[in-house]
Amino acid sequence: MQMQDLTGKVAVITGASSGIGEATARLLVEEGVHVVLVARRVERLEALAAELGDAATVARLDVADAPAVTALFDELKTRFGGIDLLFNNAGIGISSNFDDSDPADWKTMIDANLYGVLNCTQAAIPLLRGRPGAMISTVSSVGGRFGAATWSVYSATKFAVVGFHDALRRELGEEGIRVSVLEPGATWSEFGENVSDAIHQRRIQLDALQSADVAQALVFAFAQPANVLIQEILMRPVKQIVP
Ligand code: NDP
Repeated sequence: MQMQDLTGKVAVITGASSGIGEATARLLVEEGVHVVLVARRVERLEALAAELGDAATVARLDVADAPAVTALFDELKTRFGGIDLLFNNAGIGISSNFDDSDPADWKTMIDANLYGVLNCTQAAIPLLRGRPGAMISTVSSVGGRFGAATWSVYSATKFAVVGFHDALRRELGEEGIRVSVLEPGATWSEFGENVSDAIHQRRIQLDALQSADVAQALVFAFAQPANVLIQEILMRPVKQIVP
């Protein structure tokens, strides 16, 4: 298969301390990419970076903290001159019936899943300009296309991500910056901590995706020729019939 050689490219991966972000970091490094590992649990990032060696840089960051996001991307501009991929993967899902959900949980999800994406994307655009094949890829969800009971606020954030990218693609396309969304279904990771037993059972029942499967989809999209945009990938375990 004819793909772009990714050697020497620079990727920022948010939520690299577990699950899909961690798997994506490993795969991008195998493809010759330098990865900037972003998350709050810095000890996890350092352990991963120790495995990945010179190909990884660690950055402790809460993506919801706008001034800290700006400071990180300023540093990356100085160090690398620019970046080739922003993988907005950090996110949180808290499950609850809406009528007795906690507004503090709404804020946690909106801050990470929406403000985090907006903060990182705005800070990354100047660094992506002029880089052939530059791409912003953001993890939405099957829950960003279809609602599921007990996931209403989570779904709201993920639908918002899809709408944001549909509009942003029209602003950045002329400049050759590819804007892409990944919409995974049930995937093995640390996601859904407050309903971990139920999610664990569902993952077994559905023969859920591995985080590495989602990582492969990201690399497939990123490694297309620079003029080719894979706008959206909705992927799910074959047994996940609903939603
Ligand atoms: P994990 O819980 O394993 O990973 C989530 C990652 O996001 C962690 O690295 C966490 O790092 C990071 N993160 C969360 N909040 C913040 C924050 N405020 N600032 C920086 N980093 C943050 O779950 P997944 O790998 O599954 O999740 C990755 C993405 O995939 C999410 O956007 C999720 O919504 C989406 N998704 C997951 C599905 C699934 O079934 N697993 C299905 C569909 C979509 P730390 O805590 O160290 O900051």
